[in-house]
Amino acid sequence: MAAIPYDGFEPFPGRPPTTTTPQHRRIQVAVTALLVLAPFLGLAAAVWLFWGHGVGLTDLLLTGFFYFLTGFGVTVGFHRLLTHRSFTAKPALRTALALAGSMSFQGAVISWVATHRRHHAFTDRPGDPHSPYRYGTGPVGQLRGLLHAHLGWLFGDDPTDVGHFAPDLLAEPVMCRVSRAFPALCVLSLALPALAGWALSGFSLVAGLTALIWAGLARVFLLQHVTWSVNSLCHLLGTRPFTTRRHDRATNLWPLALLSMGESWHNTHHSDPTCARHGVDRGQIDLTAGVIRLFERLGWATDVRWPDPRRLAEHRRPLPDSEPLASSGPLPSSGPRRFDAEPVSADSGTARRDRVS
Ligand SMILES: [Zn+2]
Ligand SMILES: [Zn+2]
Repeated sequence: MAAIPYDGFEPFPGRPPTTTTPQHRRIQVAVTALLVLAPFLGLAAAVWLFWGHGVGLTDLLLTGFFYFLTGFGVTVGFHRLLTHRSFTAKPALRTALALAGSMSFQGAVISWVATHRRHHAFTDRPGDPHSPYRYGTGPVGQLRGLLHAHLGWLFGDDPTDVGHFAPDLLAEPVMCRVSRAFPALCVLSLALPALAGWALSGFSLVAGLTALIWAGLARVFLLQHVTWSVNSLCHLLGTRPFTTRRHDRATNLWPLALLSMGESWHNTHHSDPTCARHGVDRGQIDLTAGVIRLFERLGWATDVRWPDPRRLAEHRRPLPDSEPLASSGPLPSSGPRRFDAEPVSADSGTARRDRVS
């Protein structure tokens, strides 16, 4: 995928025509709508239940358990291990993380990884699958872009070439099997909390149903929107303490740090994508890095790429990292300090594929 000329302000130029057939497109939109709408309806049902009958402690504990189980599957597994190779995991752990991440309703593991690598290769310029700058930097374009980056892109006809961006995972039979099992893992992601709620309550069907709604559907909804907020808000609002590549406007957004398990230190991540810790500064909570540290102590993770002080110092901007929230705005005209850490090259998406950055 070659780079398309882009000035940093205008809407992205049109894409080349796709080869997707109309029938395939209809199926794609219907499946995506199901994956997005079912958790939303679950949340609506959860609110209704909470209003009328309350929610039990078991429901909340199960919700937290499955939120972090599937969330770490995405952040530790899909993102830091499989996309960026921030560490090496024992095969059983690698598979377990891929399975847990697949239960988050965010797509099959190999396509998730390919899409995210493409995002890093073309961040905030033509080719990025979910940039909030897709429709330019004017107020209307920015609002449209925010919706596109958060959710709209899922419904777009802009497939990512998996063979190009994730050939390593395609060559792994286990990952291919986990990818194919995505629909079954979605069902399991709802069935497990329902069964747990049913069994823990002494086999009450109502308890099974409330666990399904809270720890199943509402939990999926929350994690989906937190993950999507990293794609949308964490390229629009927040601070940029570290330099990134040209056009890359990734930000650190502290309010999302806990729920995103450290992923909202997104500017730091885009500045040093293979680093296993994204919250590198004092007080920056990064639960995902904590889990990787635990795996390392247990001997399940090796070759962990922990922050390198020299590299951090090289990438830290000279001014204090105190740009206020909502400071993203358009690209500064005189701002090599802010955005032009490295020139963009046409092959930047693939040149570093063994340690994708
Ligand atoms: Zn990003
Ligand atoms: Zn990443």
